[in-house]
Amino acid sequence: MKKIYIVVFSILSSLACMAQDLPVIDSAVRIRLPLDTLDTQDKYTRVILFDDNTWSYLDLGHPKIDTSSLFDEYWTNTEMHAYSSYPASLIPEEFELLLADSLNNYCPPIQGKVFSGYKVRRGSSHQGTDIPLNVGDTVRAAFDGVVRYVGTTKQTGGYGNLVVIRHSNGLETYYGHLSKTLCEPNDPVKAGDVIGLGGSTGRSTGPHLHFETRYKGQTFDAERVINFETGALRDSVLTLKKHYFSIYSHYGQSDNESQAASDRIIYTVRKGDTLSGIAKKYGTTVSAICKLNNISSKKTLRIGERLIVR
Ligand SMILES: [Zn+2]
Repeated sequence: MKKIYIVVFSILSSLACMAQDLPVIDSAVRIRLPLDTLDTQDKYTRVILFDDNTWSYLDLGHPKIDTSSLFDEYWTNTEMHAYSSYPASLIPEEFELLLADSLNNYCPPIQGKVFSGYKVRRGSSHQGTDIPLNVGDTVRAAFDGVVRYVGTTKQTGGYGNLVVIRHSNGLETYYGHLSKTLCEPNDPVKAGDVIGLGGSTGRSTGPHLHFETRYKGQTFDAERVINFETGALRDSVLTLKKHYFSIYSHYGQSDNESQAASDRIIYTVRKGDTLSGIAKKYGTTVSAICKLNNISSKKTLRIGERLIVR
């Protein structure tokens, strides 16, 4: 018994000696010295670097966006397009939209290789981005927001079963051709919430998601916002320029190309029109029109078809 006491005593005393030799380390009281600050993609947030190789976010004070009117004005649960009477002239030539930051989340609505983008397709405007899916795949809200509209094929026509969500930056996202909608109008949603199941309802040739991004009713190429193949957000801030709202302006163009494309003159084919007649009328050539529209000079024109003439 005595032997055990001695052993225990000697262990305790050696621990006490060790404790005396060690420097006092207390992370709670140790002062970290800031060495540098770094900019982030979000201009209201910086990263502070400390001398102990740690870092933390510095919030410079995000501007408080007044969203009280956003979910009130031009708000309708019965019309799929809410901004039909909103004058496009009120939209600035260029402005920034905060898409995601530490407070506003993002989630890809669906991930996959785009098979049809924002463009004129078979003579009519295709204002969304088509991403293939399997019927029943979950489709998720891209950003936080409030469900503004839920409609069936009977109400939306080509869109099939459709969900429209409005986000606090003023953007609206459209999710079309759903087999089933899983949200109700005025539901608040978080990015990543399942809002419906993929399908092929409405004017659709096979199961896919028709995804649109609109600002005050004006469509622009959703691929400017999302890289659908990887699912990643292109940037946390989107600079929107007015010429992006043209169906001829798309992701991948330079701003000069986009501007030129948006200035294009579009002609709607009427009865009796010929390519040479249209070319003559606009002081251009048949081959120039064919090149702009990617068509053959032997193409039969359809009434109502739209052609870029310049
Ligand atoms: Zn589509």
